[in-house]
Amino acid sequence: MVTSKAFVLRKEDFQSQSSKLHERGSIEFVEIPDPGPGEVLVRNYAAGINFNNVWSLRGTPANPFQMIDNHVRRNLRDKHHQRDFQIIGSDSAGVINAVGPGVEGWKVGDEVVVHCHVFDDADTKFGEDSLLSESQSIWGYETNFGAFAEYSLVRSSQLIQRPLDLTWEEAASYDLTLSTAYRMLISPNGANLRPGEVCLVWGAAGGLGLFAIQLAKNIGAHVIAVVSSEERADECKNFGADAIINRSKMKHQLLNDDGSPNPMAWREYKKLLDQFGLGLPDVVFEHVGRETLALSIFLAKRGGRIVTCAATSGAESLIDLRYLWLGVKRLIGSHIATLEEARLASELVSTGKIKTTVSTIRNLDEIGQLLADFENGQFVGKAVVRIA
Ligand code: NDP
Repeated sequence: MVTSKAFVLRKEDFQSQSSKLHERGSIEFVEIPDPGPGEVLVRNYAAGINFNNVWSLRGTPANPFQMIDNHVRRNLRDKHHQRDFQIIGSDSAGVINAVGPGVEGWKVGDEVVVHCHVFDDADTKFGEDSLLSESQSIWGYETNFGAFAEYSLVRSSQLIQRPLDLTWEEAASYDLTLSTAYRMLISPNGANLRPGEVCLVWGAAGGLGLFAIQLAKNIGAHVIAVVSSEERADECKNFGADAIINRSKMKHQLLNDDGSPNPMAWREYKKLLDQFGLGLPDVVFEHVGRETLALSIFLAKRGGRIVTCAATSGAESLIDLRYLWLGVKRLIGSHIATLEEARLASELVSTGKIKTTVSTIRNLDEIGQLLADFENGQFVGKAVVRIA
């Protein structure tokens, strides 16, 4: 058992609805249990900020403590995760401090990046795609003892060797969003983007987006990046985007007041794509959800793929199915990535083919305000907290 400084959510914080993120969570010292079978204790040096931290603090779409209870129902060996506090955080880099029974291939002192996909590795009936396992959870979101602490408890099946040329902050910044974008775009489990194809990326200067641009360019695809400012447009161009849509300059709102799609806006986007001369997108990289999904399906070319992992603007979306079936398009759901997909993505960082995208570094003590700023969309690329 070690005592660890940590950013901690308390059960009682969620008994009343609070609209301000920084009213939830506090820096405290809490006990982290010794690693059990298959687990290691990691001394974190830095931790990455992700949008799921915002979902945790909002307590929606699910209460964090109910999510841990559900995780334990699927993973009975994780009963020790049920506490009156939760340490969130799903990206970290650090050094292995202690190793539990049965851990093979890792030892005290190894420098690691922690991948957030947790599953019961005894559940082998789904072959290589462990995302299909009912036991699947996200570390530091649906489990306890996450990244925003000096020490974290993780399964050895979450570990990736740290790319040595990176700073600790860079190493902690990329795994969750890069591996998610990798599965969505490159993996045969996702859209399987091909050289020469065209990919439209929503939120292209965000955590997922800057990696999506780089992954697509790395295999020789063309990228149309959608952003909301000129500053973000420039950032996307620096990462290789071939064409930019600045959505803040569009004349028409995507949705009518009743939430139905606005055909005037669809025509405006289509006209802009025609002007780029790249053709309609073979693949649309979606995560915005309610406000953009119908348009994404409309814009994809015949036989195109729309791959999505999220619904930042809302999970219920009104779509016109005719554009899906008449255009023989495919809508693909994707969620995080297997350890193998994460390793392949991390290899691209190690070999310099993908650059990390850290724009903001703050100390652990400042994390409450950092998360509030992140919720307000203030950052390009990734934000990180320094822990050491
Ligand atoms: P970021 O906040 O870094 O970036 C999201 C970008 O989306 C913003 O920068 C913004 O760009 C754009 N955006 C937001 N609202 C709208 C809107 N209404 N219309 C068009 N664009 C919009 O977040 P991430 O990239 O890290 O994550 C994006 C989503 O993906 C989150 O909901 C997150 O929870 C989810 N996610 C899911 C994963 C999974 O495994 N299922 C893994 C990782 C993330 P701009 O204003 O410039 O257009």
